[in-house]
Amino acid sequence: MPYLTDWYANPSGSHRFARGARQAVDESRDRVAGIVGCGPNEVVFTGCGTESDNMAITGAVTRLGGRAVCPAVEHHAVLHVVEHHGGSVVGVDVAGRVELDALATTLDELASGPGVSIVSVMAVNNEVGTITDIAAVADVVRRHAPGALFHTDAVQAACWLDLRELTPHVDLLSLSAHKFGGPKGVGVLIERGGPRVDPLIIGGGQERERRSGTHNTAGIVALAAALAVTDAERVTENVRLADLRDRLVKGLQGELDDVVETVDPADKVAGSAHVCIGGVESEALLFLLDEAGVCASAASACASGAMEPSHVLAAMGIDRAVALGALRLTLGHTSTEADVDRGIEVIAGAVRRLREGVRPT
Ligand code: PLP
Repeated sequence: MPYLTDWYANPSGSHRFARGARQAVDESRDRVAGIVGCGPNEVVFTGCGTESDNMAITGAVTRLGGRAVCPAVEHHAVLHVVEHHGGSVVGVDVAGRVELDALATTLDELASGPGVSIVSVMAVNNEVGTITDIAAVADVVRRHAPGALFHTDAVQAACWLDLRELTPHVDLLSLSAHKFGGPKGVGVLIERGGPRVDPLIIGGGQERERRSGTHNTAGIVALAAALAVTDAERVTENVRLADLRDRLVKGLQGELDDVVETVDPADKVAGSAHVCIGGVESEALLFLLDEAGVCASAASACASGAMEPSHVLAAMGIDRAVALGALRLTLGHTSTEADVDRGIEVIAGAVRRLREGVRPT
């Protein structure tokens, strides 16, 4: 709040209020750098995770030439940008992890043609929660595309993984504040080893010419504060929420038949409960859940009037009919046992109604 009121000044100014705001931005940068495991001059504050991903990929393609490469399960903030630049998309396994052999083959093929500017592989998938072994992917990238930059979209990783262990394997890393309790509309791109890509937003030269635009001081301070709390509570929250997640999934499976966990819990983050429920369509289920005050999603998009299963589930090879019953439930720092128990009751009731042929009105 002080940075929306008393210290409202533009941090790029030179008077005392501007200097106060500047100090807050600098301290936040130090704080983020300490948690991510990089130097403060490697932290670029952006407007969101999407901007960080766009800057990494577009900035690499424009600076280095060559193709961008990513797996088929990336968030559209990566996938659509790679496709936009005519890049290559690589297949994944049943859990949604990039196929390392296919990645190596793609990189080898591109090496004898246009070359590779950047490989982008997400650390944690936003729909199903799968964790990718970024060190193993880095090994393939370094061996098969030594001139390419390696980027990870770590937007979904900050609550669950120690970023200090991720950062050494990559050149570029994206974060978004609202995925760890910070405000919407502020993100980070880590550029290890100094400027690696062309800037996306050019103007007043803020962020050492990396990202122009007046700093969102309050957002940046809040991002750093939220990241510090997330980092301090990460280990205990991982244990607490894994228990709650298992309680939720087992509770649903106890109440209903044909509830399949999409990804083995051993392969994913604690806060993700993704199931496919037979005999119901997510669209109708979400309607009933919303009516009862249970917030969930299905990750399906309505295209040309027909429900299309998510691109993530399709890439994982999940049957279209099964994917139509996908339900994505997410747990976080505010989730309690009582929430989970109420969720089980409401979801089970809604599924029974739909299976009995009741249509939402
Ligand atoms: N990448 C992943 C994996 C995400 O889950 C999201 C948001 O859902 C984004 C990128 C985009 O972040 P933002 O909403 O800050 O633009």
